[in-house]
Amino acid sequence: MSFKSLGLSEPLLRAISKKGYEIPSPIQAKAIPPVLEGKDVLASAQTGTGKTAGFTLPLLHLLSENPKDKYRPIRALILTPTRELAAQVYANVKEYSEFLNIKSAVVFGGVNQKPQVATIRQGIDVLVATPGRLLDLEGQGALSLKRVEIFVLDEADRMLDMGFLRDIERVMKLMPDKRQNLMFSATFSKEIKKLAYTILNNPVQVEATPENTAVEVIEQKVHRVAKGKKTGLIIKLISEGNWKQVLVFTRTKHGANNLCKKMIGAGITAAAIHGNKSQGARTKALAGFKTGSVRVLVATDIAARGLDIPLLPHVVNFELPNISEDYVHRIGRTGRAGASGEAISLVSADETSYLRSIEKLIDMRIDVEIIEGFEPDPNASTEPIKQGQNRSQGRGRNSSSNSRSSGNTRTTNRNKSGNRRRSDNRS
Ligand code: ADP
Ligand code: MG
Repeated sequence: MSFKSLGLSEPLLRAISKKGYEIPSPIQAKAIPPVLEGKDVLASAQTGTGKTAGFTLPLLHLLSENPKDKYRPIRALILTPTRELAAQVYANVKEYSEFLNIKSAVVFGGVNQKPQVATIRQGIDVLVATPGRLLDLEGQGALSLKRVEIFVLDEADRMLDMGFLRDIERVMKLMPDKRQNLMFSATFSKEIKKLAYTILNNPVQVEATPENTAVEVIEQKVHRVAKGKKTGLIIKLISEGNWKQVLVFTRTKHGANNLCKKMIGAGITAAAIHGNKSQGARTKALAGFKTGSVRVLVATDIAARGLDIPLLPHVVNFELPNISEDYVHRIGRTGRAGASGEAISLVSADETSYLRSIEKLIDMRIDVEIIEGFEPDPNASTEPIKQGQNRSQGRGRNSSSNSRSSGNTRTTNRNKSGNRRRSDNRS
């Protein structure tokens, strides 16, 4: 994905590369196309994800592509809650419009209004403003919003927190009814949706959740288990938990096929998707999984990568990936922010070092639970087992951490269901 493929004009691409951006951030990739199509857009993504460029770039594109009035009425209004933000957004507008014939200005309170008024008098295309000063200047007849074509409400959640709702409503009455509206917010509360309903017309809704944030909201659990008991354990979890839709990851194609056969043998409908399956077989398996006729989809990392799998209540790592980042991709398939979702990993002794690296990457310890009857093998080696698909070959590299971990002591306590629960003492 490049900025060019989003359809932005040459002068904007030049400004973007001058700024040093190489690829659009996820929210930019999602928000820019519908804005360019002239649609109303509601976009939400965490702070620091590049929302400013998400509306500024397509806004500048639209203004510069359309014929302009030589007197430059204000054609775009960007409302922000604070002076600092107004100044920041204005700085961005200036940078991105460097190679365009577009003029802009910023107005906010707490400073002398005279220079602001003088700049506006000369004619500007884009105005960045905080609500209070904007309404002041409009009331004095220093500016008019009657020709605004695009209205942007930036940091909408903070606007509401700061009590700007009435001011926003006042500003909206000063603009023509027919205009494009964009609303950007870091969060997506009920209040934001309500506000969006009053401001936006048939909006396209886009959101981007960074993966490392997703990690925090997913319930994660590790079951320490003997390697040979994994299949029995996963069948028990699925049947006793009455799970209807489970995505299971294995490290190898062979492992995926094997597990799939055993599931079917246990009366659980399952299908495997991996690189050796034809596109037709994969599509069929996925379709069955989506409609519910296939309860378990067993996949390898690479096969799952490009798939449009909906967010699921259960993701199981039958084996941990040896590439820690793959763990984050895998569990990102389960429910987020509010929706319940859990990611369970079945971890045998030889996967100990993988678990450590994953916990290091996500910067958290995953709760360990041992299920009665499926205990780990105390005599098993913690040395990683070489597998066909292993991408890291370095046995020696891991050996020092393994010898340390083989000296683990375990403490026993009880969990809610009365099962014996042991947690590793991994310090
Ligand atoms: P938000 O409004 O989502 O909090 P900003 O628009 O302020 O985020 O952007 C946060 C930072 O990311 C800024 O320093 C900005 O210059 C930078 N940034 C934005 N888009 C990109 C990109 N595509 N590539 C690299 N950095 C970017
Ligand atoms: Mg912002």
